[in-house]
Amino acid sequence: MINLKNLTISETHNHLTKGDFSAVELAQAYLSAIKETDGDIKAYLEIFPDVVEQAEEADKKIARKEEGLLTGIPLAIKDNILIKGRKCSAASKMLADYVAPYDSTVAKRLKDAGAVFLGRTNMDEFAMGGSTENSAFGPTRNPSDLSRVPGGSSGGSAAAVASDETLASLGSDTGGSVRQPASFCGVVGLKPSYGSVSRNGLIAMGSSLDQIGPITKTVADAEIIFNAIKGKDPMDGTSVETAGAISANRKNFKIGIPSDLMDTEGIDETALKNFNESAERFKSMGYGVECVNMPNVKYSLAVYYIIMPAEVSSNLARFDGLRYGLHISGKNLAEDYFLTRGGGFGIEARRRIMLGTYVLSSGYYDAYYNKANQVRSLIKNDYDEAFKKVDFVMTPTAPSPAWKIGEKIKNPMEMYLADIFTTPANITGIPAISLPSGFKKDGDKSLPLGIQLMSDHGREDLLFKAGKDFLNE
Ligand code: GLN
Repeated sequence: MINLKNLTISETHNHLTKGDFSAVELAQAYLSAIKETDGDIKAYLEIFPDVVEQAEEADKKIARKEEGLLTGIPLAIKDNILIKGRKCSAASKMLADYVAPYDSTVAKRLKDAGAVFLGRTNMDEFAMGGSTENSAFGPTRNPSDLSRVPGGSSGGSAAAVASDETLASLGSDTGGSVRQPASFCGVVGLKPSYGSVSRNGLIAMGSSLDQIGPITKTVADAEIIFNAIKGKDPMDGTSVETAGAISANRKNFKIGIPSDLMDTEGIDETALKNFNESAERFKSMGYGVECVNMPNVKYSLAVYYIIMPAEVSSNLARFDGLRYGLHISGKNLAEDYFLTRGGGFGIEARRRIMLGTYVLSSGYYDAYYNKANQVRSLIKNDYDEAFKKVDFVMTPTAPSPAWKIGEKIKNPMEMYLADIFTTPANITGIPAISLPSGFKKDGDKSLPLGIQLMSDHGREDLLFKAGKDFLNE
């Protein structure tokens, strides 16, 4: 019996190369774990039928000594990342039967590395939401408490890692969708710098905000996956090569706390206490902790909820019933559009398409979209100034632990407020990592909490260093 609980990618790699177990045995262990627990958790939309065959290929690679760190490593992939020949639905009725005609760049890189794709994970429809309840195929449940949400939109990817239904997974993060579910499920989630990971083959939500990132049990695992998927890609014109590297004798790292943002009401008391204790823990490890003045960051949420729907409304215009997925015929072309888009998109997708169309419409464009872009620059400025003084900006990942299924779904505004700490990194394009930092007790349940560290563009290396220090890796 392989004990999946404590496996990390590098340990698993050692076991595989030493022959303690094969990639096939490992894949089978994960398939049994999924069989046992996923009926309750529902992290997956589909388990791929050829998992064992993929693992056999990995074993051959290992036998030929052509393996890398990810050869034979089981991964779960969010259902908005294209893998050639497999369904990719973005958890929407619109794309329920859509089959990817090509590999996303990240999938291609992971395949070349010999990773084994276990299946595709549940998410909020088109990545819009923070609870996975907006999936057209039913919610995922939080492994720590089945009555609670796993966060979102990459809730399936986070729940799968937390319940040992995979060793690691990929999510996408437009406003927090990797980090917030990671914090709700007690695992690590990295949103890379904008452009450091190719978006080719990611179903677009907000193109100036989207990034694919790993969800893992350790910071070291997140680093391994990031290194495998990052880098310039001719298929994504916004992709860049980033290569931050801390000089070997660098000490005295400084963490800034944006007091303006922390003053906002509505942070759960235990989460706040945990955040302060986490800051103390960094201090005790020799990190400097100070307050930084970032007066515009508190507008991030407002800016995000204008720019994101604007981009959503234009990105989702391509789902017209003619080119991709669902088609419902009406009496004429206009009716085809109405029926297909009305029938294919869920309520949250429709809400955002309408909001986005509104803020982009002539007469409102300057008042909303342009204004939001101006404030976006001010927020970026705040970070540029902060990073002259400190290496990191730290906040809680989310203002509370996971909430109950059904608790916020009827009140979208309340759900949006949960993105207050995560949206700034997308607006500014900087990298951010969520680290598990403790628990809030709730009866016999322990609800995971997380802290977030942000660093300057391209400085994932700093996040990995501080993350490993914090988690004692
Ligand atoms: N919760 C945020 C939203 O609903 C973030 C989504 C995301 O990052 N994909 O937009």
